[in-house]
Amino acid sequence: MDKKEIYEKHKKYLVPCVATYYKDPLILDRGKGNYVFDTEGKQYLDFFGGIVTISVGHCDDEITDKTCEQMKKLQHTSTLYPSVPIVSLAEKLAWITPGKLQKSFFTNSGSEAVETAVLLAQLHTESHEIIALRHGYSGATLLTMNITAHGNYRLVESLVPGIKHAHNAYCFRCAFGKEYPNCELDCAKDVKELIETTTSGHPAAFIAEPIQGVGGVITPPKEYFKEVVSIVKKYAGLFICDEVQTGWGRTGKKMFGIEHWGVEPDIMVMAKGAANGAPVGITIATPEVGDSLKGSHLSTFGGNPVTATAILATIEAIETRKLVQNAEKMGMYLRDQLNGLKEKHRIIGEVRGMGLIQGMEIVKAKKEPAPDFVAEIFESTKEQGLLIGKGGLYGNVIRITPPLTIGRGDIDQAVQIMDRAFEKIPASRTV
Ligand code: PMP
Repeated sequence: MDKKEIYEKHKKYLVPCVATYYKDPLILDRGKGNYVFDTEGKQYLDFFGGIVTISVGHCDDEITDKTCEQMKKLQHTSTLYPSVPIVSLAEKLAWITPGKLQKSFFTNSGSEAVETAVLLAQLHTESHEIIALRHGYSGATLLTMNITAHGNYRLVESLVPGIKHAHNAYCFRCAFGKEYPNCELDCAKDVKELIETTTSGHPAAFIAEPIQGVGGVITPPKEYFKEVVSIVKKYAGLFICDEVQTGWGRTGKKMFGIEHWGVEPDIMVMAKGAANGAPVGITIATPEVGDSLKGSHLSTFGGNPVTATAILATIEAIETRKLVQNAEKMGMYLRDQLNGLKEKHRIIGEVRGMGLIQGMEIVKAKKEPAPDFVAEIFESTKEQGLLIGKGGLYGNVIRITPPLTIGRGDIDQAVQIMDRAFEKIPASRTV
């Protein structure tokens, strides 16, 4: 099939929400390491990592070999029969996740993992109310679409009752008109009033991403989670931490994002980078909370031997190749370079993030969101062989989440390409 035919079939046989980046959609054929290749053989440096999913580089030989071996040995049994891969994975997760997290339930996507986490919290607390954050993203099922706080992702009106959305810690656009650190964390403290005025006073849980990825890499101040979680705990609510984007060393220095804020979740959700590209959802809870999920509840493919092996192989690669350390080192280098771009280009309103999850909010005068500039930057970076991501409520945040395997040379190349793309936007249009 040629490019034109592939795109025509895409439009004809897929529903329109299966959206594509770029005016002329990029049709990818293969990937290796930090690169992907289109059907005409052109190479692209992948600085979005699929969508924040390629932890260890595309089609990693070691992970692929181990997964294929398992595929040849035993593909499916269902969880009605214990297997070595599922118990080895569950044990490993209990070791590497923070605090007392110990008991896992496996599914096939981040959305299902969030569904499981909420169900667990509701069963454990015998309450149904959930506190989520504005600008957060939780998934595409009915419940997770309703937890998600981006109007454009809510394809049908709000149908799930009991979800309350608190202000997030979006310092660049503070809802309280304050400036960190002189703000006294009003956004976190407001959750007390939110609970007292909009819930029964006994919420099941507070759910949050350590860094809001889809929301535009919104990164709360270091004191935020201690403050907000302590408020939720006073009302006997649990803390569900969504590590779908921040897990597996992406934030550098630590395996999971929330560890930077020194707070221990009661339930944690993981997906995306867990299996370096294979579909997976993981929900892990403390023993007391996890034991509340009893009775008939099952995921046919969850924890299957092949995916469990792919996750174990990914974790092993992250550990043996010291990718958490690399994410920290390269993250610092990348951040310096992005700060350099910010000094040069006034359309970069803020650079934020941690390790290898970084964002640049693109604005005009008075912080007016500039999604049109982002669209132009996308065309230019693609032309020059670089893939980046976008996000934010207004579609004006450039998201940079490369594989954790990148080196300085890759960063230098990506930054030079972005620099040239930014230069194409004349200063006269930025006011
Ligand atoms: N939580 C977060 C933080 C996410 O970013 C996503 C996906 N973007 C999800 C949940 C849902 O994951 P999935 O698309 O695998 O269902």
